Amino acid sequence: MAKVNENFLKIDREYIFPIIEQKLDEFRRNNPHETLYNLGIGDVSQPLTKTVAKAINLATQEMASRPIGYGPATGYDFLKQAIIETIYKKYEVSLEEVFISDGILSDIADMQELFCHQSVIGLPDPSYPAYIDTNVFAGRAGNLISKQKYSNMIYFACNQETGFKPLPDDRSSQIIYLCSPNNPTGVALTENDLARWVNYAHKQKAIILYDAAYCDFICSKNVPKSIYEIPGAKEVAIEMRSFSKSAGFTGLRCSYSIIPKEIKLLSSHGSESMNRLWKLRQNAKYNGTSYLSQRAAEAALSPQGTKEANMQLTQYQKSAKDLFMGLSSMGYEVCGGIDSPYVWWKIPYGKSSWEFFETLLTRCKVLAVPGIGFGLEGNRFIRLSGFAHSDAVHGALKSIKRL
Ligand code: PLP
Repeated sequence: MAKVNENFLKIDREYIFPIIEQKLDEFRRNNPHETLYNLGIGDVSQPLTKTVAKAINLATQEMASRPIGYGPATGYDFLKQAIIETIYKKYEVSLEEVFISDGILSDIADMQELFCHQSVIGLPDPSYPAYIDTNVFAGRAGNLISKQKYSNMIYFACNQETGFKPLPDDRSSQIIYLCSPNNPTGVALTENDLARWVNYAHKQKAIILYDAAYCDFICSKNVPKSIYEIPGAKEVAIEMRSFSKSAGFTGLRCSYSIIPKEIKLLSSHGSESMNRLWKLRQNAKYNGTSYLSQRAAEAALSPQGTKEANMQLTQYQKSAKDLFMGLSSMGYEVCGGIDSPYVWWKIPYGKSSWEFFETLLTRCKVLAVPGIGFGLEGNRFIRLSGFAHSDAVHGALKSIKRL
């Protein structure tokens, strides 16, 4: 009989988002006439912009008029060029350092393959669940030593003391996941925080996997959108960005990782270029991101595409800010919502995050995400999302006020 990969049995919780979907379905089935304020979604709620849709149409016609088959595994130069021109020119990033993919999630899940199994993983608590789960499946998390804690992982708490963001200390780790602005706390790392992490990575000879999925929401002056603003970052940091949240591509799929040639991993022969290894890996295991998505992404970066995407972002930013201000004015403790679509709400009544989730759903008709789904530090918190329509935001705030 075929044997299971035992690592899959080491996950001690279910992935949070399908559970929330299930709760939503249940609510709709049992309350068909009730209005529900859905602040649980981490997905976009506006359609593709006109410029992006037009580019997809054109690319479809092109594919119908001449054969366009497998593209380069690392992506087409036209998109890499557009990424460099619009974002990375000032950091002197070259075409060979840009790797196009179908989503940050894929790169997060796959990039850890390049590291040896004994590497200690450092990550924020709470954080995007994929950082932990994909390492557990791959057998690099070690053993489950207590609830949601693995022997080969160290957790950088994001709590009141740290300003709800991860900050380095003197514990050692070699693979570091950072997300700024952080999902779920909604707090972004300042220039000073990032400099501390780059310094830590140099000292530890560690690599930072920098998830910048929400960087386009950043508006505070002292918060860089790119980690490469920090001197020395190109030797230690891989930056991952996506068109998912910034241009509504969650259903279309396109993202990219910047892997500077300076990044080296220790080997028995000396050192190896991560850029070379990732190219090797992608050529062997990935057949490339669809041509349509890449043409669409190119259009999203054009001046008109950027303008339209920014109009959508402005609405999400307003919803997040309204949530933050609304809850603050009721006297609740909240953070995030300024540089991020997410608001992180401290549960007021000493309840666990699942209990408060149920209270919000049944009494306020508000769907949120319990903080425990992102790590133990999240158990006294709830995540609310600004990807909702403004009617849902204002309806939810009124309903919460009555609570
Ligand atoms: N990283 C974070 C922090 C996210 O919250 C998400 C999606 O919600 C992703 C990555 C996934 O991004 P993509 O759609 O590019 O796979």
